[in-house]
Amino acid sequence: MSVPTDAEECTYCGSDLSFCEPVFVAETADGEHVPAGGFCNYACLSAHIEQAELVYGASCTVEP
Ligand SMILES: [Zn+2]
Repeated sequence: MSVPTDAEECTYCGSDLSFCEPVFVAETADGEHVPAGGFCNYACLSAHIEQAELVYGASCTVEP
């Protein structure tokens, strides 16, 4: 059923970005730029960033 495609999928919701004007972003992790993927709209981008910040926030509070 699945047909291989060059189309990107939204990193957050998995929508086909070929239907949209995708937003591609890169994040910075440990001083390195990391491709964070593409998003079908800014709502998905915002939601993804919120989740990512939650993860980063948790990882920044490491007890010795
Ligand atoms: Zn999306």
